[in-house]
Amino acid sequence: TCALDPRAMVSDACVSYGTIDSTNDQIYTLLHSITQDTDFFSYYRLNLFNTECPFWSDANSMCGNIACSVNTIESEEDIPLIWRAEELSKLEGPKAHHPPRQIQAERPKERPLQGMLGEDVGESCVVEYDDECDERDYCVPEDEGSAAKGDYVSLVDNPERFTGYSGEGAHLVWDAIYRENCFMKADESQQQSLVIPGVGGAVSDFRNVIQKGSQRLDGLPLDNECREKRVFHRLISGMHASISTHLCWDYLNQTTGEWHPNMQCYKDRLHEYPERISNMYFNYALVSRAVAKLRKYLQSYTFCTSDPAQDLETKDRVTKLTNALADRPQIFDENLMFQDPDSIALKEDFRNRFRNVSRLMDCVGCDKCRLWGKVQVNGYGTALKVLFDYDETKNGENPPLRRTELVALINTLGRISHSISAARSFHLALVAGQDQA
Ligand code: FAD
Repeated sequence: TCALDPRAMVSDACVSYGTIDSTNDQIYTLLHSITQDTDFFSYYRLNLFNTECPFWSDANSMCGNIACSVNTIESEEDIPLIWRAEELSKLEGPKAHHPPRQIQAERPKERPLQGMLGEDVGESCVVEYDDECDERDYCVPEDEGSAAKGDYVSLVDNPERFTGYSGEGAHLVWDAIYRENCFMKADESQQQSLVIPGVGGAVSDFRNVIQKGSQRLDGLPLDNECREKRVFHRLISGMHASISTHLCWDYLNQTTGEWHPNMQCYKDRLHEYPERISNMYFNYALVSRAVAKLRKYLQSYTFCTSDPAQDLETKDRVTKLTNALADRPQIFDENLMFQDPDSIALKEDFRNRFRNVSRLMDCVGCDKCRLWGKVQVNGYGTALKVLFDYDETKNGENPPLRRTELVALINTLGRISHSISAARSFHLALVAGQDQA
C-alpha cells in the first residue's frame, strides 16, 4: 500500500508504509533519548499565557480541566545556567546585540557570530534578540531573548495527551486552520481569508466564514488542486491525526482515573479514516527529510546547556540521527514543489497561510494543547523553511535556526514518530482482536 498516495505527486516513488515503519524502528529509541533525556531538547521557551486570540474572543472557550494545565518552570534554578535571565543579561551589552538585519545580511558567510560575543560563546548559546519575522519564516517566532516574555516549559513533564478540551472552542480552531487550506482566487480570498489585525485591516466575521467551509474538512476537493495545496492540506490533516493519536493513546478514563490507550477513540478518529493515517506518514516523510537535510548544518552547531559533557552527548546523538535519516532512501522530494513560473506568489501565499495557522494557536483554549500546538506548528514551519529555503550543500548562506526552531523541529519528529508507532500498535491489536473473534 502506498503511504504517500501517488496522487499527492510529492514523490514519484510509491513509498510503502513498511518503508517508513522500518525507518522509524531504526531511529525511534535514539530520537526518544534526544527528546526525553537532553536538556537542550526538553526545555522550550514560549509565550504561552500572555497572548490573545487575534481573530475572535476566546473568553468562553477556555478549558478548566486539570489535564489542560501546564507546569511552567517557576524557579530559575531548574533551567540550565546559560539560559537564565541573569546570564542572558550578561550577554546583553554592546557586543552581544543581535546585528541589525542589514548587517546580518552583509555578514561574510564564514565569519562566526561568536566573534561578536567573545570567543567562548557559541552561536547557539546566543538567544534571539530579533522579535521580527524573517521573511523566510513560516511561523510567528517564539522569542527566547526577552526575559519579560514567555516561560520555560519542560516538554518531558508536560506530555501531550488527552486533556478533555473539545466542543465549539476546539472545533472553531480546527475549522479556521482548515480554512487556511482554501487557497482561493484573489477576489474571494480578500473577502474570506483570515485578516490579520495590523496587517490586513479589520477582522472579518470569522464564524460565518468557517461555517461555509467546514463541511470540506475531510473531503477537500483535492483532485484538481496543485501539488502545493495538497501538501498544505496533508500537513494540517497529518498534524491533526497525530494529535488525535496521542490523545487516544494516553487517554484518561474519567471513571477510574486511569490513563491507557483507548481503542474506540482510535477507531472513531483514525481507523475509519485511512487518509488521516496516510497524512501522518506523509508528515513523517516531510519532517524526517528536513532533519536529514540539516546533517551538515548540525555538524558545526554548538549545543549549549552549560554542561559540556551533556552537550557532547547531545551532539553525538543528533549526529547519529541525521546520519541515519540521510542514509535512508529519500522519500520526500521538495524539489518537485514551487517549480511553476507563478510559484513565487504561490510560495508567498503558502507561507502566509502557514503563519496564520501559527497565529491561530493563540486561540486554543487549553494550555497543554496550546503548548503542543505551538511546538508542532513551529516544528512544521521550521521543516518547511529548511526544505524550501536551505541549500544543504552550503553552510554560511543558510539562515541560522533559532534554538526554539531546532527544539520544535526535533520534538515534532519525535511526536510523529511516536504517533505512527502508536497507530501501528492500535492497528495490530485491532487485527488480533478480529482474528480471535
Ligand atoms: P476534532 O478532532 O475536533 O475534529 C473536528 C473535525 O475535523 C472532525 O469532525 C472531522 O470532520 C475533521 N477531522 C478530524 N480529524 C481530521 C484529520 N486528521 N484530517 C482532516 N480532518 C479531520 N485534545 C486533547 O485531548 N489533547 C491535546 O493535546 C489536544 N491538542 C489540541 C491542539 C489543537 C491545536 C487543537 C485545535 C485541539 C486540540 N485538542 C486536544 C482537541 C482535539 O483535537 C479535538 O478537537 C477534541 O478532542 C474534539 O474532537 P472531535 O472528535 O470533536 O473532533
